[in-house]
Amino acid sequence: MFVIIAGPSGAGKHTVIRGFREAEPGIAHTISATTRAPRAGEVDGEHYYFLDRETFQARVAQGDFLEWAEVHGNLYGTLISELDRCVKSARETILELDVQGMRTLRALGYDIISVFIMPPSLEELEQRLRKRGTDSDEVIAVRLANAEAELAARGDFDYIVVNDIVERAVGDVSAIFRAERCRAYRQL
Ligand code: 5GP
Repeated sequence: MFVIIAGPSGAGKHTVIRGFREAEPGIAHTISATTRAPRAGEVDGEHYYFLDRETFQARVAQGDFLEWAEVHGNLYGTLISELDRCVKSARETILELDVQGMRTLRALGYDIISVFIMPPSLEELEQRLRKRGTDSDEVIAVRLANAEAELAARGDFDYIVVNDIVERAVGDVSAIFRAERCRAYRQL
């Protein structure tokens, strides 16, 4: 089962996924590659595979990526090897992508379950981005500008989860997994 989690920067995707995976440790999570510089505390091979643009583009040309996209001025993508690793280790894999990544996987014909994590409001989103303290004002401005376009795409998703209270959002994601596991076609 491939579950795509998307949503604007600052909506709380990481926090919701972390909470959910703590409750259900058997679920794999792809580690994306990115050209973005690591934030304080981010570890290569754990949070992302940090690549320079040249290496990233060379690997795109080699056909190493399942999907990739330019997001907030940096390149992000899922390596085929990474999805293979997850599929070998678990029956269920979470992919944290942007809206473009979700659309690419859907267009490739993957049977995906797509979940859009929403902030309660744009004001709250801005506050969260500022409180995080990891990005410059310039970076925050780009992320807020892109948030509106991402929010406009939420109707393309199977599920929308509003992350107002983290525990409730984690509960909603759990409920989605439970319902999807019960689908008859997965069991016959
Ligand atoms: P951040 O820089 O805040 O870690 O991530 C920025 C955005 O890139 C997020 O919206 C995230 O979902 C998206 N993103 C992260 N990894 C991937 C990926 O592998 N593919 C795509 N298409 N988007 C990604």
